[in-house]
Amino acid sequence: MDLERHDFQLDDLVERIKDNDHRLVALQVPEGLKMQALEMMDAIEENSAAKVVLAADPCYGACDLVHDKMRMMGVELVAHMGHSAMNIDSGMPTHFIPVTYDGDPEIDPVVPILARHKAIAEARMSKKEEELTDEEAQERFLDAVGRVAPLSGTRLGLVGSIQHLHLLQEYKERLEKAGFDVEIPIGGARLTFPGQVLGCNYSGDDPTIGHYLFLGSGDFHPIGLVMHTGKPLALLDPYTGEAGEMSLERIERILRQRMGLIFAVDNANSFGILIGEKPGQMRRNLAIRMKRLLETHGKKGYLLALDHVGPDLIDFYPVDAFVNTACPRIAIDDAVKYDKPLITPFELEVALGEKQWENGYQFDEIP
Ligand code: SF4
Repeated sequence: MDLERHDFQLDDLVERIKDNDHRLVALQVPEGLKMQALEMMDAIEENSAAKVVLAADPCYGACDLVHDKMRMMGVELVAHMGHSAMNIDSGMPTHFIPVTYDGDPEIDPVVPILARHKAIAEARMSKKEEELTDEEAQERFLDAVGRVAPLSGTRLGLVGSIQHLHLLQEYKERLEKAGFDVEIPIGGARLTFPGQVLGCNYSGDDPTIGHYLFLGSGDFHPIGLVMHTGKPLALLDPYTGEAGEMSLERIERILRQRMGLIFAVDNANSFGILIGEKPGQMRRNLAIRMKRLLETHGKKGYLLALDHVGPDLIDFYPVDAFVNTACPRIAIDDAVKYDKPLITPFELEVALGEKQWENGYQFDEIP
């Protein structure tokens, strides 16, 4: 990571600490910035009267805010870096520290990919005057996750990860000059900024958007975006300037793996139902609904609450499989690390015959 080109905006935090005369502040930084955490602690302590304690546990999102336990230590303010506020209450005053990256890649390499994807979207446009048989409709409107989903538009949805969101407006203009009708989607309450996506939330999607461009790096958000929307996705990496796309083969491989796990729980009689203790991952009601559902099918569900979820923390329980209601990406991205099948609530409903795989895959979203 090129740290010189990142802007860690600590000034507002220092002002807030001084204004409120805070004496003990907890700093929470994402995994990729842990190496720089001590420097940041020095900067805050040198510029204010506060002492800083690093919340050194792993942190992958704003769902994972330091909560009440730090109050027992006397912490007055949590400074959370690199993510934005969610629709959750952690019980602690929290200051979000924005991090931005000044990368500015050319759009030229991604334009041919976008043009190809736009043509795919045009083929999925519904035409009411046409009478199609079910099979023809299936062939024409099928999306990447097996849903028959006609579109009402072919707009380009422009999204990004949080450190690149300040670029979106300028890229919208560049892409419009290149001939695309661009929308920066506005999502639900879990998202703070237009064009923002999380690994568990792509709620800005709508049927007028026919395809996407993601400004960011890595495949974490891209996999979730295609699993959720079923739409073609082009990628532009501000760190390297490289363009690419999320391959449908990759999504098909993931779907085959999910299908395999659903088959694997066919004869399972007892399930551990994981509840995330992190403030933005806790889905107690969903977990209890899964327990009841298992009971109506004559199966047993045990509710297991955890802060972190990992194979060494659950594999030893004498159950046949696990259903995950904590971070949705644990089941999707990490299933191979577990000895026993680890499935999402939707996948359990399919396994029990309550929902149909044939109607398309349903991504486990936290609203
Ligand atoms: S994907 Fe997981 S870690 Fe990321 S914000 Fe959502 S629940 Fe949190």
